Amino acid sequence: MLGRIKKNYEQLKLEEMPNPKRKHSKTRRDKRRTHYKATAPTVVTCSNCGSSVQYHRVCPECGFYRGKLVIEKKTAE
Ligand SMILES: [Zn+2]
Repeated sequence: MLGRIKKNYEQLKLEEMPNPKRKHSKTRRDKRRTHYKATAPTVVTCSNCGSSVQYHRVCPECGFYRGKLVIEKKTAE
């Protein structure tokens, strides 16, 4: 059974594998990529300190997330 599978695989390797008939044009490639665009991150205000924070992220200013202190800020020496 395994031998037959191996034989079939080797036979398949010898034949040409399925491939696109011709190269796609630059226009076609670029038209496809018109849907690829960067989106601006959602920015909200921190409920604790009021600074602008990226949505679903811990506040970089005070370290709060959902009203709880998650990361304690290092004090400058
Ligand atoms: Zn904050």
